[in-house]
Amino acid sequence: MSANEQDLKEFICEIGRRLYDRQFAAANDGNITVRLNERELLCTPTMVSKGFMTPDDICKIDNQGVQIAGKRKRSSEVLLHLSVYSERPDINAVVHCHPPHATAFAVAHEPIPKCVLPEVEVFLGEVPIAVYETPGGQKFADTIRPYVKDCNTILLANHGTITFGPDLENAYFNTEIIDAYCRILILSRQLGRVNYFSDQQTKELLDLKKRLGYDDVRFHNSGAPMCGESSFDNEYSQFVPRPFAFRRENEPAGVGECQCKTSSQVSTCGGVTRVPQGVQQPRSEADFEKLVQTITNQVLGAMGG
Ligand SMILES: [Zn+2]
Repeated sequence: MSANEQDLKEFICEIGRRLYDRQFAAANDGNITVRLNERELLCTPTMVSKGFMTPDDICKIDNQGVQIAGKRKRSSEVLLHLSVYSERPDINAVVHCHPPHATAFAVAHEPIPKCVLPEVEVFLGEVPIAVYETPGGQKFADTIRPYVKDCNTILLANHGTITFGPDLENAYFNTEIIDAYCRILILSRQLGRVNYFSDQQTKELLDLKKRLGYDDVRFHNSGAPMCGESSFDNEYSQFVPRPFAFRRENEPAGVGECQCKTSSQVSTCGGVTRVPQGVQQPRSEADFEKLVQTITNQVLGAMGG
């Protein structure tokens, strides 16, 4: 075994620890692969917590997924990883796990909005959601194939994420970036609204991205929407999730401020329903106190009886 191979095994254990410590992979979840050469890959074992692996636990597989070395059984999800390597000679590492905030978007089938944060535009670009399939088999591995050439991060519907890169650290960083981004989106949505870049602001970021040497699906497809709708439409797959929580229909083009649709009682603003001040306060303090009093009375009544 080459020194390089031993170093890579140690680094896989280190990345496994980061996945576990950041709660991206509960219990024995998640798997990591690294390409050694055209025919061989290193792969994490099944039924072992990714937070507590030693270099001895790491398996070696061939480019068809057949195990060729290692005392433990290889991960059952390697076919998913092989879908990436077979389409992308520039990729040398793949990370699959279930980071909670990104997985929430995958469960909600909520498309990842673009044109919100500079780093996300530059390092991730657009992130598609692949259709759900029972994990483990070839059919599951094929769900990501339509997107692999045009991105480095994919959400797996009702399951988790897969991220990839030229080396293991960058493949893993994409997992950190997508989960941090989804967390920020959920938090800002709770504050009431999300503001988006204008087309001009996005164009400046994409120009910078090109200068830095990163690829983006929007560079190849002149018809792809810069902001708003996803570029991953039904030319990629029949499964095209539509925005719900992050709808942008009510916004004027290219401006972050939202325009509200107002009915007599409520206004809907970028997907957020607001009750105008003073019209109706369904949970006023008085209502709340009345509710507490009712429950207290019931409990005391039950105890007395
Ligand atoms: Zn999984």
